[in-house]
Amino acid sequence: MLKFLKLYHELQIIDADRLAVEKQLATFPATVQEWKNKLATAHGAWKSLLTEQTNNEAERRKLATQTNEWEAKIAHYQEQQRQVTNEKQLAALEHEIASARKALSPIEERQIEIILRADELAKEIPMAEEAFRALEAEAKEEKERIREQLASKKEALALLDKDRDVFWTQLNETEKRDYADLALRFPGRVVAPIAGETCGGCFTKMQPNILAAVRKADQPVRCDQCRRFIFLPEDAS
Ligand SMILES: [Zn+2]
Repeated sequence: MLKFLKLYHELQIIDADRLAVEKQLATFPATVQEWKNKLATAHGAWKSLLTEQTNNEAERRKLATQTNEWEAKIAHYQEQQRQVTNEKQLAALEHEIASARKALSPIEERQIEIILRADELAKEIPMAEEAFRALEAEAKEEKERIREQLASKKEALALLDKDRDVFWTQLNETEKRDYADLALRFPGRVVAPIAGETCGGCFTKMQPNILAAVRKADQPVRCDQCRRFIFLPEDAS
């Protein structure tokens, strides 16, 4: 195998590793964001229950005041009923009392609803808080795991870069340019072994003269189709 091809081969192994590491690194921001979203959702659910509880308590106080007012009115009318002297006045007061009770009825219904909801909220709120706290603890661990992973991946990249330099510096300028051009099109897969009679990169069938040149291995041979440099797999080992 020609020397530059050997170097290309070593370089592409390193580049493929680098790409894999970079791909893993690239997933971290999305993972971090996912956790942020999960936490925000859990926190929002807990806070909205707390808001509902506050609103319910305020409404409950307002309704209690209204109930007291209506009850006071009813008591006042009943007191008047004991003092009236004719049927007409009595009927008028009875009508007032009936109207007051009618106004009071939906207030009392709403009060019952609120009491029932308050019981539910008393259970739901601690559960929502617990769910949020658990997620928060999990997120903290995950954050630490990601931090460690980031550090180790970056370390791995630095080591790969160091290895890469060893091979890269042995290439001449043309070889470097060719490698860089191919690496743009085929990241981490710049050279390809012959697979049977096809290019191991693009799987196009090779012409007999190309195959013969590859077997000879005394000059660089490119695939007609993808332009990768091709070699015999046994030469790479
Ligand atoms: Zn090809």
